[in-house]
Amino acid sequence: MRKISMVDLKTQYENIKPELDKAISEVINSSMFINGPVVKEFQAALEKYLNIKHVIPCANGTDALQISMMALELKPGDEVIAPSFTFIATAEVIALLGLTPVLVDVEPDTFNISPDAIAKAITPRTRAIVPVHLFGQTADMDAIMAIANEYKLFVIEDACQSIGSDYLNAAGEWKKSGTIGHLGCTSFFPSKNLGCFGDGGAIFTNDDALAAKIRSVVNHGMTVRYYHDEIGVNSRLDSLQAAVLKVKLQYLDKYAQARQHLATTYTKAFINEPNLIVPVQYTRSTHVFHQYTIQAVGFDRTKLIEFLASKDIPAMIYYPVPIHLQKAYLDPRYKPGDFPVTEQLSHTVFSLPMHTEMDNEQLNYIITSVFEFLKTV
Ligand SMILES: *Cc1c(COP(=O)(O)O)cnc(C)c1O
Repeated sequence: MRKISMVDLKTQYENIKPELDKAISEVINSSMFINGPVVKEFQAALEKYLNIKHVIPCANGTDALQISMMALELKPGDEVIAPSFTFIATAEVIALLGLTPVLVDVEPDTFNISPDAIAKAITPRTRAIVPVHLFGQTADMDAIMAIANEYKLFVIEDACQSIGSDYLNAAGEWKKSGTIGHLGCTSFFPSKNLGCFGDGGAIFTNDDALAAKIRSVVNHGMTVRYYHDEIGVNSRLDSLQAAVLKVKLQYLDKYAQARQHLATTYTKAFINEPNLIVPVQYTRSTHVFHQYTIQAVGFDRTKLIEFLASKDIPAMIYYPVPIHLQKAYLDPRYKPGDFPVTEQLSHTVFSLPMHTEMDNEQLNYIITSVFEFLKTV
């Protein structure tokens, strides 16, 4: 049996090696490492895939979030609502820009931001909401957009884990995750569902004026060369990464299917197990399973993780500490117990290996090993 990893980028590469090697050597031969034509080609291909007017590539997903908030001209003191159960980047950029992160709890079944909690957190200083489509499932965007419209707030979707997920809106249309709010952000970090061979990210929008503003912000606040109209940043997707992504975008839906196959098999195996809560499939969104995340009931998950490690099976905890209990983000506004769902999840969740290249032998070995441990509970 091949060694099991959380993400098997080596095998994924080997399976499409000729295409990727060709794309990479074309960039090297052209020597157009920055802003080469392939960056625009990838951008256009992603715009088509997402059915959105503008994709603006940038250096990583964290930058995508930061640049979005800069482009919206949010000012220190403005409040931005974000979930307490997420990767730190979401809250980090809010704090970094001197904005005030206002954290809210998530839904116990989907792990996504709770619209009711958002509505309760709104004040006259609220300017934006950042829903995170956690683990690959799109949040309740209809409810979030309704709140945003009522209070005239911007919505920046953190779609770093959900690229390719489809959301069914109230009008009966399927929309790609990240294309519903005013802005959407994604990451092309190697282990993300659409990953490059280094760092990368992108911002999505249907708003022409916002797109123009973002194109200026990512490029030192410059639209005419060496004339700087605003303070920007330097955040680019390089040509080598764009070349890799242009190839891999063609496989994104197939990769999602591979992930869904694993998830279905895991869920079938574990659904009647009283000590495990399997991920819930939200009816309004497809799930692209960036992570397959289970809740441990009535046992210590670290014992299971240790047991799996002894059998050469990795498992990870995303995320062990909620944002409001992170040392750098401690704030007198928050205390332990404020976000009960988040806190409960941070004590019980664990994620099993989930990637596009797992074979049935590996999958069955993981499932059998989990059951072997559960017999001891
Ligand atoms: C990965 C991730 C980010 C940050 O992306 P980077 O490319 O690593 O900067 C932001 N938000 C979420 C939810 C993520 O999973």
